[in-house]
Amino acid sequence: MLNVYADFCEKYLAMPVVKGRKTDSDKFAGAETTYCIEALMHDGKALQAGTSHYFGDGFAKAFDIMYTDKENKKVYPHQTSWGVTTRLIGAVIMTHGDNNGLVLPPAVAPIQAVIVPIQQFKEGVLEKANEIADALRAAGIRVKVDDSDNSPGWKFAEYEMKGVPVRIEIGPKDIEQDQCVIVMRHNRQKDFVSLEGIADTVKAKLDEVNRGLYQAALENRERRTYRCTSMEEINEALKAGDGFVKAMWCGDEACEDKVKEETGVGSRCIPFEQETLSDVCVCCGKPAKAMLYWGKAY
Ligand SMILES: [Zn+2]
Repeated sequence: MLNVYADFCEKYLAMPVVKGRKTDSDKFAGAETTYCIEALMHDGKALQAGTSHYFGDGFAKAFDIMYTDKENKKVYPHQTSWGVTTRLIGAVIMTHGDNNGLVLPPAVAPIQAVIVPIQQFKEGVLEKANEIADALRAAGIRVKVDDSDNSPGWKFAEYEMKGVPVRIEIGPKDIEQDQCVIVMRHNRQKDFVSLEGIADTVKAKLDEVNRGLYQAALENRERRTYRCTSMEEINEALKAGDGFVKAMWCGDEACEDKVKEETGVGSRCIPFEQETLSDVCVCCGKPAKAMLYWGKAY
C-alpha cells in the first residue's frame, strides 16, 4: 500500500515523498512495523503523509479474532492497517501554496482552467469564450467561464487565490488574431497561443504545471536536506532554515531523544534508500546501524 500512496502523492499531487520505516519508538503502538511516506512542506517542516502498519498476530490475539484455515484449524490472522487521510489536503496546500493563495495540482483541481473574457460586453467575446470552453470540456478538461460583472483584474486575483492551474484570457483583439492568452498559476508564465487546437494546448499546459510543481517541490526538498555527521553540524545546518537532516544512528532510543532535545529535530523515518554518511552514530559515536531522516514535524 505504501507504494500506492507514494505513487499517488508523486503523480497526482506533484509531491515528492521519502519512503521508509519508523523507528521502534515512533511506530504505531502495538504494531510490529510501521512504514511511512514523509514529505517536506514549503516551510521546511516535515509531514507524515501516509502510513502502513504490520500488526503480526498481536491484535488478533488481543481481540481473539480467528479464522479457519485450509486444514480446518482455527488460527490467528496476521493483520495490516493502512491509511491516508484528509491531512493530504493540508499537504497539498503547504507544499505548493504561495503568498497569493492556493496552487492546486491539475489532477485534483475542481476547476483546471478558468476563462476570463476581456471586454465581455463587446459582440462575440462571450460567444468565443464559451466556444473555447466547449472545446476544452469535450477534451475532458474541467473548465469554467467567469462571465460575472466583476472586472478582469478581480477575476485574475480570485482564481489565483483559489489555485486554478491555468487561466485563459480572451478579448476582441485576441479574437481578431485568432489567439488567446494562457497564464500558468504556479510561475505566472504568460503565452499567446493559437485558438486552433486549443484543447491540446491546454492539456499540454496542465502537464507542464504538474511537472513544474513537482520539480519546484523537489528542489525545495533538496535545498533543505542537510547531510550531517555531528550534533554541531545539525545545529549549524538548521540555522539556514528548517528541513530534513540526514544523519547516522546507532539504533538506541536514548540517542533519538537526545538529538531531538539538543537540535529540535526528531526522527522521521529510516529510509529504504540508505546512504552511509559515516560509520558512527551522530549522537553517541557508537557504530551506526542506519541512516535516518530527521525533521520538525507538523
Ligand atoms: Zn547513538
